[in-house]
Amino acid sequence: MTKIVGLTGGIGSGKTTVARLFEALGVPIYIADEEAKTLMQNSKIIQQELIQLLGKSCYVDGQLNRSFIASKVFNDQSLLQKINAIVHPKVAEHFERWVSKQDAPYVIKEVAILFETKSQDQFDLIITVTAPTETRIQRVIDRDQKTKKDIESIIDNQLPESQKMSQSHFVIHNISLLETEINVQNIHEKILNKIKNS
Ligand code: ATP
Repeated sequence: MTKIVGLTGGIGSGKTTVARLFEALGVPIYIADEEAKTLMQNSKIIQQELIQLLGKSCYVDGQLNRSFIASKVFNDQSLLQKINAIVHPKVAEHFERWVSKQDAPYVIKEVAILFETKSQDQFDLIITVTAPTETRIQRVIDRDQKTKKDIESIIDNQLPESQKMSQSHFVIHNISLLETEINVQNIHEKILNKIKNS
């Protein structure tokens, strides 16, 4: 049976970058946040439930109104939890269907809040990607329209990297891209060996 490898790490650590490196080695990858966005856009059931929770403004001309939703959940953890309770089970079902169609020794599922949601048991192995906090902040500033303060408050709400690392089978310190590529290659071989010998 296809093994499921979780890939996680804090904001800006380089999870998606690392996932794409595994993909280049032929590993099927599932980026949970991207799939959640697609489902929020396309799933009729999610649309109905979000409209019931947040009102009609969460879609404009059939398009998900991200800024409206972001403004609603800003500083409202309980509303965010309600949205997650609508979206997460649908993503989980979608992932199950996706994984059943894969024909590979293992797949990678990227989940930003893997430990925060206590989802460790869903994975055969876990990889955590890390990078120094200042590097992560600078990467996100360069990529998104977020301020340093915004990013620091996201980091404060995530589990400390040390706790993620201590609960992972593999850790990738993603600083030099070249070294990360070599690490990915090594970890890929180790995972394949583990599966062969299990
Ligand atoms: P988020 O949690 O915000 O979605 P992430 O952990 O998935 O982020 P990426 O999107 O992979 O991180 O990387 C964040 C930014 O940093 C991207 O613009 C990416 O191109 C860049 N980046 C990632 N790794 C490196 C690296 N080793 N060297 C330079 N830039 C990098």
